[in-house]
Amino acid sequence: DEFTVVLPDVDETQTVSMVATRLQALLARPFLIGTQEITVTSSIGIAIFPADGDDAATLLKHADTAMYHAKDQGRNNWQLYHQSLTTQTTARMALESDIRKGLERDEFRLLYQPQVSAADGTIVGIEALIRWQHPQHGMVSPAQFIPVAEESGLIVPMGEWVLHAACRQLLEWQQRGVCTARVAVNVSARQLRSPSFLDRVAAIIAETGISAEQLELELTESILMDPESRQVQGLYRLRALGVHFAIDDFGTGYSSLSYIKRFPIGMLKIDQSFVRGLPDGANDAGIATAIIAMARSLDLDVIAEGVETRQQCEFLRQAKCPKLQGYLFSRPLPPDEVEILLRRGSIILPGDHTTSQTLSVQACNPQ
Ligand code: C2E
Ligand code: CA
Ligand code: CA
Repeated sequence: DEFTVVLPDVDETQTVSMVATRLQALLARPFLIGTQEITVTSSIGIAIFPADGDDAATLLKHADTAMYHAKDQGRNNWQLYHQSLTTQTTARMALESDIRKGLERDEFRLLYQPQVSAADGTIVGIEALIRWQHPQHGMVSPAQFIPVAEESGLIVPMGEWVLHAACRQLLEWQQRGVCTARVAVNVSARQLRSPSFLDRVAAIIAETGISAEQLELELTESILMDPESRQVQGLYRLRALGVHFAIDDFGTGYSSLSYIKRFPIGMLKIDQSFVRGLPDGANDAGIATAIIAMARSLDLDVIAEGVETRQQCEFLRQAKCPKLQGYLFSRPLPPDEVEILLRRGSIILPGDHTTSQTLSVQACNPQ
């Protein structure tokens, strides 16, 4: 699916860009296979002799680098090669190899952030969030390595490590008599597309011996948009085992609501970008309220994430949002610190009062 076009005797860049634009317009025309109308998009990378290389191998390599840059820019566009792209590519390749080593050397860690019941602060779940304990750079945030891990495919072994670590942690807590809530694990779209993913989840549950009911997988909204029937069936198979599914960052994509019901989704997570503007931002308030109402009518659970202030919390309680997650209750914590909260069973904000007795009963009842 890659082609090379050679343009001889090019005198100015403008000619090249004109040809690239025309090629792209031509390729974008729909064509028929049987009765199906198919469209393809193309990404074009361009290297020019002699500025970008004076032999065929160098020109091809640099055109390739520019093509990957075009893909990064959202596909369906063309890009000229530029020296800085090689620097970027080299840096990305270094990071990729560093991630690979990090996985081998067991440098990744999980933090856990509690999710609480809006009504009384009972801990109803914990979300596992990955960190990289880098030997030189200290704690590295996922924003810095997840995109490269996704692009390189390393997200697949990394995601498997996360799932394994979270399930093992859950088991360890259970064996030591800590009442554990459900653990939520993030799954990227690329990971879900890997053919072995669904089997690996089932295998990890079996290997660690946790109850599948205690695992929730957070999927991105994008999977709702291009449902592949094999994947949907696989998700139903895991659901039948007991695994729960949530849609992360809900409201930021363009998913069709009618699709939600085609998936075994039990929970929507209201994206923190909408929570940030509460209670005064009219748009955010409207969106948050609408998601809560919609979830209720579709019989789905809802959690608002990124709750940082008392005002946001009050607004969401008023709007009958059943679950909350955010710095107001707790930051993501290492296992030993979150264990203290799990043993307590709830997080009560100053000024809120609920009897500790009802809490300790509810805490043993993950929902
Ligand atoms: P996410 O799944 O949306 O996770 C929520 C992020 O919001 C986390 O950032 C969390 O620390 C942060 N957060 C929680 N409460 C608050 C709050 O009150 N205010 C603010 N400002 N932020 C809050 P983190 O841990 O840096 O993770 C960032 C993203 O990286 C995650 O977003 C997720 O998409 C990805 N990620 C993290 N761990 C994993 C993983 O194990 N696998 C995959 N595929 N992605 C992961
Ligand atoms: Ca998440
Ligand atoms: Ca999220």
